[in-house]
Amino acid sequence: MDYLHDVVVVGAGLSGLRVAIELADSFDVVVLTKVHPLRSHSVAAQGGINAALRPDDSWESHAFDTVKGSDYLADQDVVEVLARNAPLAVIENERWGTAFSRTPDGRIAQRPFGGAGFPRTCYAADRTGHNLLHTTYEQALRRGVHFYEEWFVTSLVRCGDRVCGVTALKIPTGQVHGIGARAVVIATGGFGRIYGNSTNALINTGDGAAVCLRTGVPLKDMEFVQFHPTTLYGSNILITEGARGEGGHLLNADGERFMQRYAPEKMELAPRDIVARAIRTEIIEGRGFEDGYVHLDLRHLGADRIKERLPGIREICIHFAGIDPIDEPIPVVPGQHYSMGGIDCNVRGETVLSGLYAVGETACMSVHGANRLGGNSLLETLVFGRVVGQAVGEYLKSASSPDSAAVDEQVFSERQRLQRILMRERGESPATIRKAMHRAMDEYAGVFRDAEGLTHAFREIGRLRERYQKVALGDSDERFNYALIRTLELGNMLDLAETIVLGALKREESRGAHWRTDFPARDDKRFLKHTLITKTAEGLKVTYKDVTLGRFEVKERTY
Ligand SMILES: Cc1cc2nc3c(=O)[nH]c(=O)nc-3n(C[C@H](O)[C@H](O)[C@H](O)COP(=O)(O)OP(=O)(O)OC[C@H]3O[C@@H](n4cnc5c(N)ncnc54)[C@H](O)[C@@H]3O)c2cc1C
Repeated sequence: MDYLHDVVVVGAGLSGLRVAIELADSFDVVVLTKVHPLRSHSVAAQGGINAALRPDDSWESHAFDTVKGSDYLADQDVVEVLARNAPLAVIENERWGTAFSRTPDGRIAQRPFGGAGFPRTCYAADRTGHNLLHTTYEQALRRGVHFYEEWFVTSLVRCGDRVCGVTALKIPTGQVHGIGARAVVIATGGFGRIYGNSTNALINTGDGAAVCLRTGVPLKDMEFVQFHPTTLYGSNILITEGARGEGGHLLNADGERFMQRYAPEKMELAPRDIVARAIRTEIIEGRGFEDGYVHLDLRHLGADRIKERLPGIREICIHFAGIDPIDEPIPVVPGQHYSMGGIDCNVRGETVLSGLYAVGETACMSVHGANRLGGNSLLETLVFGRVVGQAVGEYLKSASSPDSAAVDEQVFSERQRLQRILMRERGESPATIRKAMHRAMDEYAGVFRDAEGLTHAFREIGRLRERYQKVALGDSDERFNYALIRTLELGNMLDLAETIVLGALKREESRGAHWRTDFPARDDKRFLKHTLITKTAEGLKVTYKDVTLGRFEVKERTY
């Protein structure tokens, strides 16, 4: 065992940093991250963070919108914690220094977002994540949190039914190290890069979730993948929901505001699953533009408002599409955006293994159920970062030291595994396997799914997993070997892709973001349940777990 700490937090996005801040005063906590903390995907968040701040809004109303938005699959005890603690999380970050946009009378400005009954999304122009992450990172530094930057976690060390550390590749040297810890928190973010068309950063490969799966920790609701309605046609860069929140219109090739046929009341501000399906339907039925996109029109907002509220979106359109949204509508298509599923854990982030916690996008507590509302994910990272930090603190009061022999043994086997990949001289290029995975997922596990396509995708991913066993990198350098990192990430994504497709195949209903054209109705009798997928010696095992209901009755969902 090369290093020993009380707590290892894997991931330096908002959720990992918020956990570390909570623990830093009392414990020896280290944050491991494969990139510089400020390059975590949280930095890219645009539109905002939800909180019922106004006297005429309420946490109950926020909770209701979240549960309805989730198509009633969210666990209501978790949603309650999210909504009740939202104002505190936003105000704490504001006091720490986040420069939120303001109303003329100086209060935090809030914009309407999809599926919300009140304009409750607080924002810093269209760079909310950038502001929040810088502020939170500063606070972590101020409290003396240690960082191991450019360290890539490759596995968890399990001692019986508890976790006692991780193994990680130090990218600059290529050495695998064992880091013993009494508690480990997985905060590795989403896994959007399993898809070809995604708004996610290239680093969002789901390493933490894959490592948990391989260690016998179940993953939950993996089939629920969010497709954002408006990504820039051609590059899939996100065009924030804030653009519709500010009043943007969606138009088909006939110039029609087609949302009136899908969500007459909420129109463009219906939840994301509904708007994404509407856009795909317009395109499939021939009412899109020739190459397969629709328009997001901001022109009527006027130049001043676009420059003040959506400056980043304007820049993206100018640089990546050659159009200025002040003068021209933006061509948009739906693209993968968010992972509702993830590591199975409860409201305190506790998993099936003692001492192992999950938080943020990689966790599935489940606060978003079958469909996340925009603005609730940044909120989840801060609210539950604090909650999980407190839970870990309590656990550490009685947790014993890690078993150093178990850590050493794991380091030995991880070194061998990585050496085998590095030294293989002949074999297929990982890039061809990655492309084939993207094709299968984009085509068969997207906005619309059916048994035939999913079965095809499941077989294809199985074949790709076999081919992956024989890849060759063509680069055996130890230092900064990014070919190796990309290959390890690909292995993780293939493992997760299999669980997404399997969960989707078994869920014979349509709920939230999971739409089966062969089972177009929601089926509460069979499927008002969470899917759990566990890796066993016999292969992947699928089981189901009850949803925690509460004050909001399960109803039909209309907007
Ligand atoms: C373009 C975009 C815009 C968004 N806009 C909004 C918005 O306006 N409002 C909203 O609520 N949500 C938004 N979201 C979602 C939200 O930003 C994310 O869900 C959230 O920030 C995730 O935070 P996180 O802490 O869980 O993970 P991340 O911020 O993704 O951080 C993950 C961390 O894990 C580390 N890591 C990963 N694998 C390893 C490994 N193997 N070893 C070591 N470290 C590892 C990474 O280095 C990184 O530090 C947006 C998402 C995207 C992609």
